[in-house]
Amino acid sequence: MFTVGLLAGIASALGCLTIVIIWLRDRSTASYAWWVLAFLLSGLGVALTAQRHSLLQLTTIGLPGFAALLSVGAFWCGLRVFDRRSLPVLALVPLVIWALGLPFVHHLFALRQMHFNIAIGTATLLVGVDLWRSTARELSPRFCIALICLFETLVSYRQAIALALMRDTVGQGPLHGWLTFAPFQSAVALVAIVVLGILMIAERTQSRFRDLAMNDQLTGVLNRRGFFETGANQLEKLSGTSSETAIALFDIDFFKAINDKHGHPAGDTVIAEFARRAVSTIRPGDIFGRIGGEEFALLLPDTTLNDARLIVERVRATFSGTPILHDRIEIMATASAGISIARSRDANLDQFISLADSALYAAKKAGRNRTSILRTIADRDAPAITRKSS
Ligand code: GH3
Ligand code: MG
Ligand code: MG
Repeated sequence: MFTVGLLAGIASALGCLTIVIIWLRDRSTASYAWWVLAFLLSGLGVALTAQRHSLLQLTTIGLPGFAALLSVGAFWCGLRVFDRRSLPVLALVPLVIWALGLPFVHHLFALRQMHFNIAIGTATLLVGVDLWRSTARELSPRFCIALICLFETLVSYRQAIALALMRDTVGQGPLHGWLTFAPFQSAVALVAIVVLGILMIAERTQSRFRDLAMNDQLTGVLNRRGFFETGANQLEKLSGTSSETAIALFDIDFFKAINDKHGHPAGDTVIAEFARRAVSTIRPGDIFGRIGGEEFALLLPDTTLNDARLIVERVRATFSGTPILHDRIEIMATASAGISIARSRDANLDQFISLADSALYAAKKAGRNRTSILRTIADRDAPAITRKSS
């Protein structure tokens, strides 16, 4: 038991120290506070259990049990906050089970242990099921934590049954033989959860950096780099199909005049509003990004020219149809667009964008607030088909 307590204690201390270090560098989520609390409570539980003979009174009123159950609850709260979800009310269930059962089991170590295993098994069951339901079925740290929690439930319930059957032999303890396996493997599971938890935080940090590198801060849509990377991947995926892919470039008309007249912040609002309205219009599989100051690109996989034209006209119409409000001033703005279309397997993103850019130039030249289309490279030298919005 001493070795088990030591292992769990070291895991709690190391986990706590690691999370404190991460927390000092990154205050973006309150999860770390919950997890530090979880480790402190788990350490308290281990310390009280280790002193069970000298602190018998505390043991019989179930204090070590409360500490351990609160620790699992705090760990769960941390996970929920990490996922930006509400705190789990169900985390109180194991505590209630423990408190309600205590008067019947407090006098006998074997029964207390049995009851504690039921409560802690229920706690890990709740966390495991919640994680299982909210995590993709792939070998990620989160999924492994879910599996460990569910495995812990099986071990705890099995231990509870074994203790119920052997309560007379175990008496006032301590545990002997294979009955010590469950506490030992729980301590190992705690070590594994600490390691997996750190991997999970590292994954989140990595994805946040990726988001920062790929997304535009003002609008929240893909930035130039994000659009080119995501678009090239999408074209690669479609290269084996016979479908057509369209690309559209949008540019807000006379945008410099908006900046000059209403100020730069108003210009920013107009840009952000274009992105917001465009995103609300396009389909989930379409790839949209801000590739320049007031320029946006839209890749429409598996789309005919007719559909592309409809989508682009819809985006332009939602933008120009309603005034944009900035500091109680209504700003009307329009946008021009250029579309190019090619068979997905022939499409090269740079060439594709360059064609759409030529079409956009034609739309601007023809008077703005309209869409031009260039179908192939040969079209570039011919006048683009230009269509004014109705
Ligand atoms: P056109 O109709 O030909 O597109 O004319 P335009 O005035 O829209 O185009 P131009 O390229 O002359 O001006 C674009 C302006 O956009 C110039 C630049 O100062 C401004 N701009 C670029 N990025 C931002 C931004 O993030 N916020 C704001 N407010 N303005 C920006
Ligand atoms: Mg421009
Ligand atoms: Mg412009």
